[in-house]
Amino acid sequence: MPELPEVETVRRTLNELIAGKKIDRVTVNLARIIQRPDDIEQFAFLLAGHTIQTVERRGKFLRILLDGVVLVSHLRMEGRYGLFPADEPVEKHTHVIFHFDDGTELRYKDVRQFGTMHLFQPGEEFQSPPLSKLGLEPLDADFTFDKFSATLAGKKTKIKSVLLNQAYVVGIGNIYVDESLFRAKVHPEQTANTLTDEQLHALYDAIIATLQESVEAGGSSIKSYVNGQGEMGMFQHQLQIYGRQSKPCVECGSVIEKTVVGGRGTHYCPSCQQVN
Ligand SMILES: [Zn+2]
Repeated sequence: MPELPEVETVRRTLNELIAGKKIDRVTVNLARIIQRPDDIEQFAFLLAGHTIQTVERRGKFLRILLDGVVLVSHLRMEGRYGLFPADEPVEKHTHVIFHFDDGTELRYKDVRQFGTMHLFQPGEEFQSPPLSKLGLEPLDADFTFDKFSATLAGKKTKIKSVLLNQAYVVGIGNIYVDESLFRAKVHPEQTANTLTDEQLHALYDAIIATLQESVEAGGSSIKSYVNGQGEMGMFQHQLQIYGRQSKPCVECGSVIEKTVVGGRGTHYCPSCQQVN
């Protein structure tokens, strides 16, 4: 599943490709992708004639802002967007097509069919699910150390599980949680409320640095993730712990272990990351 850096890469690419384009009409081939409104004809009606202003992001959700309406899109496992000339053949698994008045089309393809789209009036999107329950945005200027430590305070669950919970901090999934915990030298199973101030600072810094470096690299290409222009992200070559089980730790040479925390495959160095 794409995490924050991958969605941010898609956002930047999409913004360059579609900002300023006017939607002529919309074709929906798979109704279940459209979660709001209930009626796909209403969905198409509400978008027709509107111009895309900018593409923004909240957590792992894309927010496509148009004049008078907002489209919230989640790619889930394998959803992806691509811009095509209208006369190019439509690929299999293309579920939604936004036909622009300049002869191009934004096509949403999703082999697994888990992606979602919600339409809102501008500003209304933050009052309802799926955006209403999201936690701190780790690359925003208002993601302060105080807010981060207050969010973890009193949580008697494993730190990895807390970080994966989108209600606390958004956008960091399995890959970037493992990377951040390794960088901060925190064991994934340490209980969140037992982290020392020093560990909290290290983890706060590690989350920001890991996400920023990955955004700069265009995200990671684990499995089939490809960004909006079909380019591969390069951050997977910089991963220090994720996917490196049985290999030597880059810091100390110990053998990296893999276990399961909160139902997720978890990579850690038994020497560098000890429960405090
Ligand atoms: Zn190590």
